Amino acid sequence: MFVDTRTVENNSVFHTDICVIGAGAAGITIAKELIGSRHRVILLESGGLEPDQSTQAIYEGRSIGLTYPLSDTRSRYFGGSTNQWWGNCRPLDDIDFEQRSWIAYSGWPFHKQELLPFYARAQALCKLDGYENYNPETLQKHSLRISPLSLDEERVVTKVIQTCPSVRFKDLYQQDIATAQNVDTFLWSNAIALEPNEPCTKVNHVRAKCLNGNEFSISARIVIVAAGGIENARLLLASNKVAKAGVGNEHDLVGRYFMEHPTVGFSLKATRPTEGFRFYDYDERQHVGNMIVWGMLSLSSDLMRRRQLLGMSIYFVPGDPEGIPSLREIKNVLVRRTVPRDVLAHLQSVVRNSYAIGQFILQRKLLKLPTKSLLPGEYSIATLFEQAPNPSNRVTLSSERDALNQLRTELRLQLSEAERENYVESLRILAEAAGWDLDPMQLKVGHGSDPWRIGFFSHHMGTTRMNDDPKKGVVDRHCRVHGISNLFIAGSSVFPTGGSSAPTLTLVALAIRLTDHLKDILH
Ligand SMILES: Cc1cc2nc3c(=O)[nH]c(=O)nc-3n(C[C@H](O)[C@H](O)[C@H](O)COP(=O)(O)OP(=O)(O)OC[C@H]3O[C@@H](n4cnc5c(N)ncnc54)[C@H](O)[C@@H]3O)c2cc1C
Repeated sequence: MFVDTRTVENNSVFHTDICVIGAGAAGITIAKELIGSRHRVILLESGGLEPDQSTQAIYEGRSIGLTYPLSDTRSRYFGGSTNQWWGNCRPLDDIDFEQRSWIAYSGWPFHKQELLPFYARAQALCKLDGYENYNPETLQKHSLRISPLSLDEERVVTKVIQTCPSVRFKDLYQQDIATAQNVDTFLWSNAIALEPNEPCTKVNHVRAKCLNGNEFSISARIVIVAAGGIENARLLLASNKVAKAGVGNEHDLVGRYFMEHPTVGFSLKATRPTEGFRFYDYDERQHVGNMIVWGMLSLSSDLMRRRQLLGMSIYFVPGDPEGIPSLREIKNVLVRRTVPRDVLAHLQSVVRNSYAIGQFILQRKLLKLPTKSLLPGEYSIATLFEQAPNPSNRVTLSSERDALNQLRTELRLQLSEAERENYVESLRILAEAAGWDLDPMQLKVGHGSDPWRIGFFSHHMGTTRMNDDPKKGVVDRHCRVHGISNLFIAGSSVFPTGGSSAPTLTLVALAIRLTDHLKDILH
């Protein structure tokens, strides 16, 4: 059932078995996995079922260092950021879980093996098919229109990506959750504080507030914070009545080690990539059976170890989608104030392709890809880099308040000199292996007058990192906050490192694993 909590009695207290804060990829996964169980669930969601400006504004904040769009990279309503994601999925690689001597603070508490059964279930939940097809050799057993390249695997490998055919979690699961007997979804409900007992060993209540001022509390046996990679940290830090530094922050780790996947887009001033590279072209994604597949070029794990490199993947970016030339025509009409005879056809083309146009504009904006139309013979390349965990890259509370009177987010984010050099080195190796003659000027990731404009993929990781040692991590291997018996975190904020693959499939796998664990302990 969906409940509009703006109309419940002020200061009501609700009781449940499990309270999940946030109905994005992680929260919806957990609620879905609990449907039909004997546990009562309250799914608390800040927004409604459609975007709302005042709610979205709660995401605004301040970035220090690299400019970071705190609101554009998230969606604050049922479905969370999957309302605007691109649906590209891939599990992390073995090496991403390892402790890598050349990357400080790297290493997950378990190997990838631990996640394999959950990755298989996450594939199904994301409506993806054939986990085994991430292996290029297995994939080639299908009749592919375009095949991955045979590469010098000592240096460069193909990473197969699968794209969700039906993309938004809201569209996939709203109905199931609305009709579930044991799940109540509280819409328009912002968690504003976790209220623990006096020694801060258990969360007694989740305090929530609506934008109309209504407040209420939820008392739950288990509380799961699933509010996204930035907001998870913000909520723990804001819960500072009993623990002055915030809940779970005894060792000053909450909010630290924020990681993104920085990208430096550039155009390759060469002829369109030769035939062989089409598998790595976003425009050429192939439908194979129930799958949509394509690929990124990446460094081999052996090479990363030998040369002490961070992860990196690259792909070719599409040219203008259908409808963009018409959009330019219409813009021209507004500027010149003369209407050409075919204006109706242009308008129709824009309306018909509005989703693709919106996605295209957003992608170019967030990834800071060249905005100009590419000339014939120019081709855009997007890079996706792994960022090293760095305690100085962190989410804190700013001094400004939002409409709920909560302190806004402040994000400090820098790329270190070592990371920049590392990226340049990776690109050199990759360009050499691919036979591209890149302008050496383009291979500078400088400061100040950055010749490369650094964009981001909207992947928020690391702010409540996982480590079995409470002095090194906020949550343990089961995603439980150290020292607090009934508080768990879901989402990519628990990632100790982010590899060079998009995070959602992994965070969904972790959310399924967490739900299984809770079913065990609540037995
Ligand atoms: C443009 C774009 C493209 C992307 N493309 C990809 C991609 O191709 N592949 C990929 O893997 N990832 C992609 N991502 C990232 C992906 O969307 C996220 O990894 C994923 O949605 C994170 O899931 P989550 O549940 O942790 O957080 P979210 O999906 O952000 O959900 C958090 C939910 O919590 C709610 N909430 C927040 N604070 C509170 C509060 N205090 N109280 C109550 N509710 C609250 C929010 O309203 C939201 O519904 C993309 C993101 C963007 C923006």
